[in-house]
Amino acid sequence: MLELHSYIAGEKLPGNSMLEVYNPYNGSLVGTVSQATLKDTQSAIAAGLKGGQPLTRYERYEILDKTKQLLLERKEMFAQLICAESGLSINETLYEVGRATDVLSFAAMEALQDDGDIYSCDISPQGKARKIYTCREPIDLAVAITPFNHPLNQVVHKVAPAIAAGAPLILKPSEKTPLTAIRFTELLYEAGLPPYMLSVLVGPTKEVAQVLVQDKRVQLVSFTGSVAVGKSIASSVGYKKLVLELGGNAALIVLDDADMDLAIKLAAEGSFRNSGQRCTAVKRILVHKKIADTFTERFVEEAKQYTFGDPSDPATRVGTVIDEPAAKYLEEVVQKAVAQGARVLLGGQRHGALMEPTVIANVPRNAQMVTCESFGPLAPIMKVKDLDDAIALTNSTVYGLASGVVTQNLEHAIKAIKSLKVGTVNINEVPGYRLEKSPFGGIKDSGLGIKEGVIEAMKCFSYVKTYSLPW
Ligand code: NAP
Repeated sequence: MLELHSYIAGEKLPGNSMLEVYNPYNGSLVGTVSQATLKDTQSAIAAGLKGGQPLTRYERYEILDKTKQLLLERKEMFAQLICAESGLSINETLYEVGRATDVLSFAAMEALQDDGDIYSCDISPQGKARKIYTCREPIDLAVAITPFNHPLNQVVHKVAPAIAAGAPLILKPSEKTPLTAIRFTELLYEAGLPPYMLSVLVGPTKEVAQVLVQDKRVQLVSFTGSVAVGKSIASSVGYKKLVLELGGNAALIVLDDADMDLAIKLAAEGSFRNSGQRCTAVKRILVHKKIADTFTERFVEEAKQYTFGDPSDPATRVGTVIDEPAAKYLEEVVQKAVAQGARVLLGGQRHGALMEPTVIANVPRNAQMVTCESFGPLAPIMKVKDLDDAIALTNSTVYGLASGVVTQNLEHAIKAIKSLKVGTVNINEVPGYRLEKSPFGGIKDSGLGIKEGVIEAMKCFSYVKTYSLPW
């Protein structure tokens, strides 16, 4: 059992009040974390603002690179910790640690890049002999709030770009998976990160998260999580930069000209990987009516390969969802869809926090399962008439995060890219495919259209300064 601590600029918070974190699969106590009070939150803000010796670009590179090396050395330990506190299968958590090392690599490289532009001013009749230059300066203090579904990678996606940009940060991880975030913070300190650059706080929402969000001295809130919490932050954040990466219900469109083998593989990977708990996981499979029966029959066989059970067993592909209430919600939306005429072809049952990979056909378009985000391993299949119908159905919900389209027809691909109201369209790939440094983020209720990914996130953690000189 781990006994971990919140940190204010490198100082451990004493364990007066401890948050307990339980394994969602077997209910065992994985660890405890000391919780911050309102006073601690204010101290963390003061410590971040007080700052310290600014880091050179090379120092930022070195810290990020060293952290990556330490993470690689302790890959197994981190994978096991994520597995224990989230219930994600060990295969997924090993993959997640790999992704996090990519984020650190890219952030280290970006820290070395120049970020300025030059504008010569003698290029119009109104011009003159001057040059305008731009450079980026780190903001004074940022706050990052992260969700449970990638306990490490969501954290690294905010912390690494902040360090690369030179901005001090206060991290508030999910109370469901705080242990990995704390261990990662310790890794950064060990790699030489000056303590003022990062605090990590766990504690009651009213004393920590809400205080951080509303403090006028915080210049950026970068939030990843649910639509409801994201919108409540938007209404209370006041005058500061805001990044919101919220929920989704991504569609995978399978057209009648699709490569069937590829479509089946993408539908299964998109629906069941990470226990279906990715904001870009496939939440609706929209299949052309001409091929729907063949697709469905073969997809069920593929879905049977996704073994579920003990997340720590390397043979398990699908672990639990985050907790029993989450699994109960999934079971409930399956039952509601069945009451509306849907048919469960595989799975549908829950065992504690373990939701079976579930294939469900004939799902009505107004079923809660597909109009709202169902954050788990459910694969609802819906028939569509043609591409236009698929586009209209994809665009019909409040979300706008990501989509995938399986087709061998370039015209169909281009039409889908142009018409889908989402942040990302992947052709012949799962909706969630990305490089850790490529721009990523949603529109509509999925986000404000401000992207993350290492390069875009670094822009969020800094301001452009313009200066000019006679030339
Ligand atoms: P959540 O319930 O919204 O929680 C996210 C974070 O917000 C947690 O750290 C939570 O802290 C904190 N929080 C709760 N209430 C708050 C408040 N009033 N003010 C400020 N912060 C508050 O989300 P989740 O259930 O952890 O994560 C799943 C959701 O995240 C899904 O909807 C998923 O689609 C979305 N997501 C989106 C992306 C993306 O990039 N678009 C990526 C991953 C996940 P506590 O844990 O202490 O309550």
